Formats: sequence, C-alpha cells, structure tokens
Amino acid sequence: MVQILAGVAAFLMAASLPVAAQVAPERPGIPAGSPVSTPPRWDTSAIAKEARGWLADLIKINTSNPPGNEQIAAMYIMGILTKEGIKAEILDMAPGRSAVVARLRSSAVAQPSRALLLVAHLDTVPVEKSRWSVDPFGAVVKDGYLYGRGAIDDKGMVAANLAVFISLKRSMAHLNRDVIFLATDDEEVGGDASIRTLIAKHWEKFAAGFAINEGGNVFIKNGKVQYAGVQADEKVAANIAVVARGTSGHASQPTKDNAVVHLAAAVAKIGTYSAPVRFTSIVRRYFEGLAALEDDDIGKWMRSMETSDRGEHAQRVISDASPLWNAMLRDTIAPTVLTAGVANNVIPAEARANLNVRLLPGDSISTVVNDLNKLVNDPLVRLEVQPNAGLAAPSSSLESEFYGVISKVVSREFGGAPALPFQSTWLTDSAQLRLYQVQALGLVPFPLTQDDLKRMHGDDERIPLAAFDKGVDVLAKIVNEFAVAH
Ligand SMILES: [Zn+2]
Repeated sequence: MVQILAGVAAFLMAASLPVAAQVAPERPGIPAGSPVSTPPRWDTSAIAKEARGWLADLIKINTSNPPGNEQIAAMYIMGILTKEGIKAEILDMAPGRSAVVARLRSSAVAQPSRALLLVAHLDTVPVEKSRWSVDPFGAVVKDGYLYGRGAIDDKGMVAANLAVFISLKRSMAHLNRDVIFLATDDEEVGGDASIRTLIAKHWEKFAAGFAINEGGNVFIKNGKVQYAGVQADEKVAANIAVVARGTSGHASQPTKDNAVVHLAAAVAKIGTYSAPVRFTSIVRRYFEGLAALEDDDIGKWMRSMETSDRGEHAQRVISDASPLWNAMLRDTIAPTVLTAGVANNVIPAEARANLNVRLLPGDSISTVVNDLNKLVNDPLVRLEVQPNAGLAAPSSSLESEFYGVISKVVSREFGGAPALPFQSTWLTDSAQLRLYQVQALGLVPFPLTQDDLKRMHGDDERIPLAAFDKGVDVLAKIVNEFAVAH
C-alpha cells in the first residue's frame, strides 16, 4: 500500500516536470493527425540487420547474475542512443550495476498515463560453460542461429526494443504518446538492484500507462505459429521452509524421532500433492482459445474441464499432458533444497527442506500452509513461510485498446494465428509495474519452437536470426499502430 501511494505521488510529480526539447517534428507535408498508409520506413529489414549486431555485442558483454555487471551493457546502449541523437540516462543501482532509460516525446506536456514503455532486462542467468557446444559469450552464428546466453532471455528483446525505438527517431514519427526505452538490471535475481528499487528511486523517469515486456511468447508448433501468448498476469512466488526437529544423538543407536526421517516423509507426501484447480479469468480464456487449436482429443478435454460430470477427469488429463498447463491451473509446490546432517555418525537435531510455491493470483499462502499441515500431519514437522514473498498485482486488461492492437497485429502478421491471454507461471518485472497501474503486457515477439524455448535458462541458448528479424518487424508494427499518429 505504501508503495502504491508513493507511486501515485511520483506519477503526479512526473506530470508537472519540465519538458526537454525532444518534440518529434511533424513530417514535412503531412499535417498531424492526417491518415497515412503504412509508409515504407516501416520496412524493418535494415534496422533488424543492425540490431543483430547490437544483440551479438550484448551477448559478448557477460551480464550473468550474480554478479550482473550490467553497467557495461547499459553504457554500450547509451553509446548507440547518443549516436542517434537520443538523450539517454544511466541509472546507477549498485556498484557496477545500472539501468538505462531514454524517451521520445510526443508533446511538450508529459502525460505519463498515456506513455508506452518498452522494457527488457540486461542481466542473464549464469551458464554451465562445459555443457555448451559453443562459447556462451561468443555470439556464434551457426546454421541460421545466433547462439549465446541471453539471446532470447532477454537481450533479444533489448535489441528489438532498441531497433524499434531508433526507427521511430530516425523516421521522425509523429507520436501520439511518449515512447520510453528502459533496459533494467537484476531481473533474474530480483535483489536490491532490481525494478522494485528502480521504481522507488526513479519512477518519474519511466512512469507509463502501458508497457511491453517479456513474459509471453510466440509458439511454433508443427512448423508454423500456433498462437501468441500475451502475458497479462503472472503467478506469485513464495517459499516455505519445512523444519523437522528431533533428538540428536549417536547414529549407532537410532531413535524414532530422527529429524531426517520425519523430514523425508513430509517431503514425500508434499511431492505427490496437487492443490485444487481454480480457473482465473485469463486461464479460462486461454484454454477456450487453445482448445480450438489443439488436436481433437486434447481440445475436447480442454473444453470439458469445467463440466460437472467429466470436469475432474478432464483437469487430470490436461494437467498430465503438460507441466505448464498443470501449473496454470493450480498453486504448485516444488521441494527444491534439502539441508540436514553434520557428520556421518551423528543423528542431527534438525532437518530442513525448502518448498518453492507458485500461487495463482489471488490465492493465499496461509491456505497452502494449512492444507500442507493437514497433509503432513506430524507434530515434529513445522512449516514456516519465508520472508520476501512476491506481491500479487492486478492483471492487465484484455479489453483495452492496447491488448486489442497487439492481438490484431499478431494475428495479421502470423498468418491468422490468434493472440491468447497468458498467465505466466514464471515471474517478470511486469508484476511490479502493474502495482503502479501500468497496463503491462508480455510478448517476446520472436516465433520460437519448444526446443528453442527450453534453452532459455538452459544450455546452448540461441535465437533463429529469421525469428529475430520477424520479431523486430512485429514489434515495430505494434508500436506503430499504438503510438504513432495516423
Ligand atoms: Zn527474462
């Protein structure tokens, strides 16, 4: 609540800020507001080729988090923007860690609630170098793919945002709202240098009513785009410690209250538990749309999930068919870390496990704890909710003009494949933005196969260069329709 009020205050402050002279001039001979067909400047093949170079350079700047070191990448981007005559600003977050922001203005009077934010993160997850077939920071091009950590997540999006932003500037596009470029740091760890702090310190620099971020994807199935998942909401992460306490002692004389045994039994029960299914409105719409695209059998079960006679069975079939679908339908609980024991011949007094919980928006962690307590039913085992749980944010609207534009462009550009509203099981910076009344929608615009998507956070991450170019083009068209006066 405090955060939200601070956000509103910053918003009002931003509205009264003086305006720098970066007003986009009107195109010669074309008065503002007159209708124009999509002009040839929206041919993005040249800028996409340049952006491939930026992406390769960004991959070569190792921003594995920890420690991040995003400042070097932020400076690199500032250099590109400066060359284009765009004033960019480095926002220092911690030693060696920075974000970078720039703005193209639509008018002399700032209207933050109308502004469109193009946001992506500079940091990546680390690599297990020995498992890669190429240098993860070498930006190797092979068989039409650009390989490297961050190629998809999220440097591809940084480069695509940059390409679209710079083409707006070069074409002197007549904007009907400010367009803001923001590259953030510390997204993957979400620590003290992350968007939470960025908003607290610098909100007025990028306050916006709308944002395009990562979070949703364009999914290829059987060689063509099946649908684009536009992320409008995300699950909320929390951790629960499972703590078993017993009597410590000599391992030569085992006791029944061995903490390791009680912990193991509790984790085994939790591991087979499924929380009840609950349909959020976004998930309901997602499955309604997807049912029409899947094969007859799966489609039939998707449509039956809320029927009274076959609903439960249908939910089981769909949950078993895909870990993603399972996680979209319910709170999930994944044991991730075990800690116990000090020596081979000592029974420890305590044994601990961590449960990583992903809640459906609106669900409460205390309900999960209650249900797990009943399930474990062991007086030697306690469940403790850990600090720093995520905050539930409101979902972004599916009825807005913004969602409508994305959905229209996606379907037109991907041969009629629909946009489906998507509730990601993973976290993005969008939750923090939504807490500040930003209509944030997630769409990484590159059409990707399951195989390519799986490499994110894995080995041999890569992006097909043709998919990158296509993504730049689609993003440019979305921004053109939403933010350029016609
Ligand atoms: Zn990411």
